[in-house]
Amino acid sequence: MRITWLSHSCFELIESMNILVDPYIQDNPLAPRTVDEFNPDLIAITHGHADHLGNAEDIARRTGSPVLAVAEVAKYLDRQGVRSEGMNIGGSFRVADVLFTMTRAIHSSDITSTNPPTCGGEAAGFVIDDGIRVYHAGDTALFSDMRLLGDLYRPDVALLPIGGRYTMGPREAAIATSWIRPHLVIPMHYNTWPRIRQDPAEFRDLVETLCDSEVVILEAGDAVEC
Ligand code: ZN
Repeated sequence: MRITWLSHSCFELIESMNILVDPYIQDNPLAPRTVDEFNPDLIAITHGHADHLGNAEDIARRTGSPVLAVAEVAKYLDRQGVRSEGMNIGGSFRVADVLFTMTRAIHSSDITSTNPPTCGGEAAGFVIDDGIRVYHAGDTALFSDMRLLGDLYRPDVALLPIGGRYTMGPREAAIATSWIRPHLVIPMHYNTWPRIRQDPAEFRDLVETLCDSEVVILEAGDAVEC
């Protein structure tokens, strides 16, 4: 699988499908590509905040790719005329050879691009199994059921927020890594704006004291093969 970090929480996962997660592109000061440069088979959205729902509508309209999201966000997208697939936390949904499991996240989920904001239901994460199993945590606090996610889904790769303020910081994310026990962990949701400034080397150093997971620090636009 080729995993490309597009900065913030946006990742492109390419194996049997091209999967785009949380495409925050146009308003993202660190985005290494433009909205027109994406051609996903499916877009997965963790929650309704504008820095995660991002340009999902634009990309879905242009490409016809479906958007997978929690039921309330999927209903909102349906009302906008965007093809969507709703699911909910704890459920799994197979698309061709890929199994998507929606996981819990401790966070809020208004759809902040509408005025007033629209209820987006619960925030979530995903375990995406396309031969390689990738856990994208979404925006979340640390929660002890991350141990269960590690036991149950055995992710090969974990994508964890470290920005603090709105999500886990480096310390909490390092503990999460030790509970999930992935082969690789990639930090996300940091340095997009001053409010979530972090040094990813601090996260790497903390992980190294707790477990054997390899921390891969990517530059925006860089990819890792696994
Ligand atoms: Zn959020």
